[in-house]
Amino acid sequence: MFEIKSQISKIKVDAESLIRSCENKNEIEQLRVRFLGKKGVVTALYKNLKDITPEQRPEVGDLINTLKDEVARELDCKQSFFLRESLRSRLVEEELDVTLPGKPVTLGRIHPITKVLQRVIDIFQALGFSVAEGPEIEKEYYNFDALNIPSHHPARDMQDTFFIDVGTLLRTHTSPVQIRVMENRKPPVRVIAPGRVYRNEAINARSYCLFHQVEGFYVDKHVTFADLKGILGHFSREMFGAKTAIRIRPSYFPFTEPSLECDVSCFLCSAKGCRVCKYTGWLEILGAGMIHPAVLKAGGFDPDEVQGYAFGMGIERTALLLYGINDIRLFFENDMRFLSQF
Ligand SMILES: [Zn+2]
Repeated sequence: MFEIKSQISKIKVDAESLIRSCENKNEIEQLRVRFLGKKGVVTALYKNLKDITPEQRPEVGDLINTLKDEVARELDCKQSFFLRESLRSRLVEEELDVTLPGKPVTLGRIHPITKVLQRVIDIFQALGFSVAEGPEIEKEYYNFDALNIPSHHPARDMQDTFFIDVGTLLRTHTSPVQIRVMENRKPPVRVIAPGRVYRNEAINARSYCLFHQVEGFYVDKHVTFADLKGILGHFSREMFGAKTAIRIRPSYFPFTEPSLECDVSCFLCSAKGCRVCKYTGWLEILGAGMIHPAVLKAGGFDPDEVQGYAFGMGIERTALLLYGINDIRLFFENDMRFLSQF
């Protein structure tokens, strides 16, 4: 009895001094095994209980339990000390200066060409036109022949073409979409066709090898020149302001007859005359006309049954005027200093 009691106090003193001198978490775990593990010193004491008289067992049992609890508490205490220490050193290591200013997030902008294009599309969609697109690599047939421009027709010289091989080219205008749409639909058709077109031209401030066009056309029974004039006026007022006037001049395109060019009153100087409108008060904006019977035929429509009008405009030219930009190349250089202004 006395022997086991002194054994218990010795274990307690040993455990306390060992735990106190521990230097890391691993040592704590080793001590936990040494004292409280299955084959540990404290656990072994329980086995000695059988050598003690039954009357004394409860008292000694209590002493061993208390020892076990105390050693466990000391170990836990030291362990949480190490845990706090490691957290503290991690905090020091990963210190973050919350007063530093953040990196600015730059917002994307819509390209000015897309903006103008979308405005044109919105105006015509509100009138019931649907959007159609065609391939940029186009068959010569759709780009020229079906549009009443047979080979050796002088009009082919009006547009310098990038040929890919015999019969295939980069489309020089969005008009091929007219034929492709007519081939697949029955009148009435009301379509707006935006897209990129390509011309083999010298690159300078006024012209580029690629640009955007919007083509629009309407085919139905009883479509007249008056309808065309009405829609051009409506579009110009929506696009350039309610006070915009239009002026129609005769022109020539192989795919329309009669053909016209449409000017709008200069919205930069309120038609008083300025450098941009060359002091005429008018700006050239689009070409249009009644669809040539040969083009309707190529699209599979009967020109005796239906008529139509078509119009087309260059988006870059309109964007140059609207935003007061003097160099078309800016649209294609993707210079953020330029693009971030829109
Ligand atoms: Zn002007």
